[in-house]
Amino acid sequence: VQSKADRYMQLEDLHGAHNYHPLPVVLSRGQGVHVWDVDNNKYLDFLSAYSAVNQGHCHPKIIAALTEQASKLTLASRAFYTDALGEYQQFITNYFGYDRVLPMNTGVEGGETAVKLARRWGYDVKKIPRDQAMVVFARGNFWGRTLGAISSSTDPSSRKGFGPFIPGFDLIDYDDPAAFEALCEREGRRIAAFMVEPIQGEAGVVVPQENYLKKIKAICEKHNILLVADEVQTGLGRTGKLLASEWDSTKPDILVLGKALSGGVLPVSAVLASNEVMLTIQPGEHGSTFGGNPLACKVAAAALAVLQDEKLVENSLIMGERFRSGLKAIPANGLIESVRGRGLMNAMVIADRKGDGGPAWDVCLMLKEYGMLAKPTHGNIIRLAPPLCIDADQVDQALDIVESAIKKF
Ligand code: PLP
Repeated sequence: VQSKADRYMQLEDLHGAHNYHPLPVVLSRGQGVHVWDVDNNKYLDFLSAYSAVNQGHCHPKIIAALTEQASKLTLASRAFYTDALGEYQQFITNYFGYDRVLPMNTGVEGGETAVKLARRWGYDVKKIPRDQAMVVFARGNFWGRTLGAISSSTDPSSRKGFGPFIPGFDLIDYDDPAAFEALCEREGRRIAAFMVEPIQGEAGVVVPQENYLKKIKAICEKHNILLVADEVQTGLGRTGKLLASEWDSTKPDILVLGKALSGGVLPVSAVLASNEVMLTIQPGEHGSTFGGNPLACKVAAAALAVLQDEKLVENSLIMGERFRSGLKAIPANGLIESVRGRGLMNAMVIADRKGDGGPAWDVCLMLKEYGMLAKPTHGNIIRLAPPLCIDADQVDQALDIVESAIKKF
């Protein structure tokens, strides 16, 4: 007879689009750093829904904010004011030190919003000639799956068969300030913004050289270009700082947040900027039916409060150090080629010993057998990013699991 798990997997396979390739585990419950499958097997979650569940699964304070608001008012649209939005906007702008916020839902909508804001600022303030504005990205970037996002992507599997693409984007190598400087010397007058991840997430946790963002920001200032930080994945404590930009003591002109802004409870994203940038957009020129809805406002405010109240940013820094040094100390059988990351945003690169791309997928299956969930990104790289509420015992337990799994290869 078919198992419960097989039945659920078969349903997705038969009735859903095949746009994902999930690990074969069927989850039904989560609490803190743990998730349980339909057969009640317990796992340490080392993906955290791509860093959306930084505060831990089903955090009671976030769920309380959700349920309390859910019975009062869920959606009014921006056709009317609500008693939730203004307070949230005041809270989040103070929290991150920006003049204004534009609320959206998903991370990719945050990115689209940032690009539109940058273009509009480029025309209205920088006086770039009409329809000439450029936004620069780094190769290997990932900010979602919309036409805008894939138009600036260098990942063939994101782009193949989806053209034609949106013009007005330019690409330079990641972690190469000199390339950016050279581009600005040639094209600076047309460039409105450089949008970049402080650590490239989907590209495989690519950590740039120290002060990369600081150097980029200096070039931006010289050429009157906005620095847009896509902190959808790196933000909100993931790297051991509230924002990963803080590692380089750099304040972006436009900050994009998503994922953990709701603790993984709802799609909530936000774009933060100065008056000069944000007030270029007028009523009717941008928005979203669900953006800034009362549920999202209450949930996001609670999720940000939890980060602070439970010192999750500090914990991320400490547990991240412990985890990375533990990973590096695992007796080498040559399978872990390297370990990298900051805070609790980490990856191990699996060696390709047989020239077949390497066994990262099989390593993840083995980790699952031992009670830990993680997934490869870009073939041979396994991202390891647990909820930030993880404690030392749980980190050590994860290290034991990795060691046991690695021994099998
Ligand atoms: N930006 C970054 C850096 C991301 O990692 C992601 C998602 O992985 C996004 C944007 C897109 O977010 P969403 O999937 O919520 O649209």
